[in-house]
Amino acid sequence: MNAPIAAPYVNRPRTHVAIIGAGPGGLATAMQLAAAGVQVTIFEKDGVVGGRTRTLVSPEGYRFDLGPTFFLYPRILKEIFSSCGAELENEIEMIRLDPQYRIIFEGEGAPAVLDATPDMARMAEQIRAIAPADVAGLEVFMRENRVKLEAFRPILENPILSPADLFSIPMLKGLMRLRPHLSVDQDLRKYFADPRIRLAFSFQTKYLGMSPFKCPALFTILSFLEYEHGVFHVRGGLGGVSEAMARVAQRLGVEIRFNTPVDRIAFAGKRAIGVEAGGAHIPADAVVMNADFAHAMPRLVPPSIRRTWSDKKIDRANYSCSTFMLYLGIEGECPAIQHHNVLLSKEYMENIAQIERGVIPAVPSLYLHNPSATDDTMAPPGHTALYLLVPVPNLRFGTDWRKELAPFREIALDRIQALGVPNIRQRIRYEKIVTPQGWLDEYAVGYGATFNLSHEIGQMLHWRPGNRFQNTEGLYLVGGGTHPGSGLPVIYEGARITTRLLQADLGLPVSERGGVQPAYAIAAQ
Ligand SMILES: Cc1cc2nc3c(=O)[nH]c(=O)nc-3n(C[C@H](O)[C@H](O)[C@H](O)COP(=O)(O)OP(=O)(O)OC[C@H]3O[C@@H](n4cnc5c(N)ncnc54)[C@H](O)[C@@H]3O)c2cc1C
Repeated sequence: MNAPIAAPYVNRPRTHVAIIGAGPGGLATAMQLAAAGVQVTIFEKDGVVGGRTRTLVSPEGYRFDLGPTFFLYPRILKEIFSSCGAELENEIEMIRLDPQYRIIFEGEGAPAVLDATPDMARMAEQIRAIAPADVAGLEVFMRENRVKLEAFRPILENPILSPADLFSIPMLKGLMRLRPHLSVDQDLRKYFADPRIRLAFSFQTKYLGMSPFKCPALFTILSFLEYEHGVFHVRGGLGGVSEAMARVAQRLGVEIRFNTPVDRIAFAGKRAIGVEAGGAHIPADAVVMNADFAHAMPRLVPPSIRRTWSDKKIDRANYSCSTFMLYLGIEGECPAIQHHNVLLSKEYMENIAQIERGVIPAVPSLYLHNPSATDDTMAPPGHTALYLLVPVPNLRFGTDWRKELAPFREIALDRIQALGVPNIRQRIRYEKIVTPQGWLDEYAVGYGATFNLSHEIGQMLHWRPGNRFQNTEGLYLVGGGTHPGSGLPVIYEGARITTRLLQADLGLPVSERGGVQPAYAIAAQ
């Protein structure tokens, strides 16, 4: 029973995986690999975890989420925490919002207002006030999207390693039901005739940085997920989710090296053998890249190895829009402003066309976040922390933000004031701006495209950069730039896919779901 273990097994060094970036994808992968017994080192260029999912704290005590403010579908992260011996609810406080957001439709005359609520009876009343004929579509939309989400699961939860993977029976069933030839807006016409109601169920494509008129129909599940599973705020800010992930990872033995940018991934032939950071070579059995794909891939991986994703292809790919961000510490309260507010300009369609042409909208649609409406820890007593996000063109169009910044700030402040924050300019006590150039320079986001490679069908599934990166060995991707795509729940699911592939390739037991083949088995086929 207690026979001594053979020496080679006792002395065998633990498998070491290097992860580049402590964003949501990197942290989720680190936790799961560490729980599987792997030695994990995260190299993070900044002094904090979370990447775009971090909470900024001003010297005065205002707290602002840098990027994500909608925490959706926590189920996936809950499962990841449980698989690592932790409970998400013990680490963060999640508050389900009702109403989940206010949508303001500008038009002729007074704007129409819809307070989106997961209470279906109240939601029907909200729709009735704007478009009585569309009330009946709500129930059908919910019923059909419940089925659609189930059909989408095989695509969301499995790697797409080759075109052949698209032809498995569950995958084919899913793809057919997803009506890939239609856009979100076209699909919604089935349920809602009034364009404003369609916008209420489709502006969520902006989470992917895409227009509802181009985004594939499968993404109607985004608004469905909100109504079915909730929109959550995390007390203290969504950065708390990233910090909780880092805590659990560190408890499992993960080392996070802060302020340590990786300069290069080291290769022997086409096999990744470690990373180079600060002049040192750190060997690893495998490398996971969480850094933004468009920014990091050309810098970290030599072009000779990237047959599928050459510099030219990366440069010509389609990217999401960018965002102009204003983080404002305001003296006094802002009772007229809800927690989440989406202002859809009268020129919404024109706004989208302008962004696609590289023109900065003069009367932009925007999103205003006032977490102080729910959470008194977000600002000092008697003060308010406001976050404004305006979709704008990414840097492909060569906009000079040094010139555009000052006039656009004035437009943005006027828009916030009109929403119900009187005397805004006199009340600002703290201000930070991030332009598309700032996303590139400060946060290493390629082309300032805040939501990564865009999500049209030609850049999804097998056509997106692979979780097991194409034409290399030992190099894996996680984050919004790989399959299945961007947005926190999707990124966490992508980290599960990458972790399972790594486990299979490293000869470790695959922890859940299974269904992935190790790289050597595929090579043998
Ligand atoms: C403004 C905005 C709003 C958003 N809103 C939402 C929302 O409401 N809900 C939602 O679900 N999603 C939202 N998202 C999308 C998405 O969920 C987040 O952007 C998410 O943080 C992306 O995670 P990621 O794992 O891809 O990596 P990132 O968050 O980009 O993290 C990558 C990490 O890699 C590090 N890094 C980069 N280069 C190197 C290097 N060479 N060496 C070492 N480290 C490096 C970076 O510092 C960073 O920490 C939003 C995004 C933005 C920008």
